[in-house]
Amino acid sequence: MTRVTVWNEYRHERQEERIRQVYPNGIHVQLASFLSAAGLDTRTATLDEPEHGLTEEVLNKTDVLVWWGHVAHQEVSDEVVNRIHKRVLEGMGLVVLHSGHMSKIFIKLMGTSCDLKWREAGEKERLWVMEPSHPIAAGIGEYIDLEQEEMYGAHFDVPAPESLIFVGWFEGGNVFPSGSTYRRGSGNIFYFQPGHESYPTYYNKEIQQVIINGVNWCAPVKRDVPVYGHSEALEPIRSTVGV
Ligand code: ZN
Repeated sequence: MTRVTVWNEYRHERQEERIRQVYPNGIHVQLASFLSAAGLDTRTATLDEPEHGLTEEVLNKTDVLVWWGHVAHQEVSDEVVNRIHKRVLEGMGLVVLHSGHMSKIFIKLMGTSCDLKWREAGEKERLWVMEPSHPIAAGIGEYIDLEQEEMYGAHFDVPAPESLIFVGWFEGGNVFPSGSTYRRGSGNIFYFQPGHESYPTYYNKEIQQVIINGVNWCAPVKRDVPVYGHSEALEPIRSTVGV
């Protein structure tokens, strides 16, 4: 069974009543509830726990880490970021949601600013499926409609993705590469844009399905970590030229 850790900075929900009304127990609890219901072995971790709830032990038992952060990216310690980075290169999957695009771990993995245009205007978003055969789009029709979402607009300063699975169109005229995959080392990464804290996006069944699919796609293949460095010959080398 795939072991999932859902990480949330958990600040908006504790500090603002209007956000608490949307996610009374925190965004992480809502994400964990539908991931658990999908048969994933799910736990949660938050910023204010010791080591942000992401100790060596927790990360070593995590197959896929789901990340939601916004106002407190800089409070995440570099030590924990480096620990996550190492685990991704070793094969741990990473699903980065919404404003997690500016998290230290995503910027470190992408190597770019990860900046974008944004606007909070309660506008409609339509997420078009660009790769219908991709496992992350399984069970989704031609598009997903969201009545309200924060606008994230191009240009998004990230490297070219391996797959661009969703493009989001916004009522105000912007478009955005809303669902994309990357590989770094042995790890799979999925970035998915919907999920502004003041809208009930993570109660939407189709959005839930995409996140479940994303977790499953990011799950590591069971294999040994590649061996690097000096390598003995596997076959006798007969040529002596140049030795
Ligand atoms: Zn937002």
